[in-house]
Amino acid sequence: MIVGIVGAGTMGAGIAQVCLVAGHTVRLYDASPEATEAGRGRIEAGLGRLVAKGKLEPMAHTAASDRLSMAADLIDVGAGADIVIEAAIEELVAKQAIFADLDRAASEATLLATNTSALSVTAIAESTTHPGRVLGLHFFNPAPLMRLVEVVAGRRTQRSTVDAALAFAEGLGKDPIVCQDAPGFIVNRVNRPFTLEALRMLEAGEADVAAIDSALVTAGYPMGPFALIDLVGLDVNLAVARTLYEGFDEAERFRPSPLQNRMVEAGALGRKTGQGFYRYDDVGGLLEPVPRPTDQPRSPPLDAQTILARIELAIINEAYRAAGEGVASPPDIDLALVLGAGHPAGPFARARALGLGQVVASLREFERQHGERYRVAQTLWQVASI
Ligand code: NAD
Repeated sequence: MIVGIVGAGTMGAGIAQVCLVAGHTVRLYDASPEATEAGRGRIEAGLGRLVAKGKLEPMAHTAASDRLSMAADLIDVGAGADIVIEAAIEELVAKQAIFADLDRAASEATLLATNTSALSVTAIAESTTHPGRVLGLHFFNPAPLMRLVEVVAGRRTQRSTVDAALAFAEGLGKDPIVCQDAPGFIVNRVNRPFTLEALRMLEAGEADVAAIDSALVTAGYPMGPFALIDLVGLDVNLAVARTLYEGFDEAERFRPSPLQNRMVEAGALGRKTGQGFYRYDDVGGLLEPVPRPTDQPRSPPLDAQTILARIELAIINEAYRAAGEGVASPPDIDLALVLGAGHPAGPFARARALGLGQVVASLREFERQHGERYRVAQTLWQVASI
């Protein structure tokens, strides 16, 4: 297949590498010539790493490199492509302009996919004359390693488009999960409390960075919330939080963190700037938490069990809400959180292990102590009272 990719940044380059390894021809376009070159370099380096690990034959590397070309413009990307995947800047207006151009350039049979993290696929599709062939294909970072792809059906996406995208993603060796077009889709929404609740505990002086991260790692999560925010970038994480806050009518549970906002304004963006919640050495090695006046733990600080419960129960609550709204089925949400966020168990499995009655009782207590963001989701009430 001929795959067009728009945006040669972190995600575009990663997705291009995955498509090349799967045997597709890739045409890559970026608005910035420097980014295009840097993207090509990252793809080559990625293919080289696969060869070094024995996962790709040297001849296959050469063939993959030969199937990669740089497109001069969006017309060049769209014309003749079977599918175009857009991984440009996370701004609705920019994505709509890109899709309007792709719509003109590509034949009606070409699938047009966006890798948006949280924007409305339906709104992006509105800029085209054939919204039925537009969908979300949400890869996770790093795209070559992460198996999950959220296949997002917009309001006007045709079933045949979803089926073709599922087959395409499976052909890339991924585990695609279909979900509806609601802010944050599955993982970025259901897993939001992982970072937001951690930030709230820190802001309230209830526990410090090291204690919160350690509670989650000890429970089997691949990294703690603050190490994760530093890795993703405080700015990127904040942008997704803002989209969710706006997308859910400024619901209290999605209110972005003022502390994170201040840190972004100060340029402390995490690993990429050498400092976020932790300090990093020149090669990105984690050194130590950055001391901050706001996280002097109150006495006594929260214990690890309570830290874990506050975060996990908020995630479980959000999972029930998302399932109740029809975003995806409980088994798919469980699988998405395990594959896309590395959770030791999905939220529904975790809720069953804890006992639904206990989950509801704890959430009600947290609501009493900390306010409406812990209010029990209606769907959870219903299943718990059966
Ligand atoms: P990035 O900043 O690394 O790359 C974006 C690239 O798009 C840049 O090279 C930029 O020059 C290019 N670009 C900007 N406007 C363009 C335009 N009009 N036409 C063509 N190219 C343009 O960003 P990223 O992290 O790769 O994210 C890309 C998209 O993927 C975003 O929508 C983001 O929300 C989403 N996403 C990111 C992650 C992540 O962890 N970084 C994960 C999943 C999805």
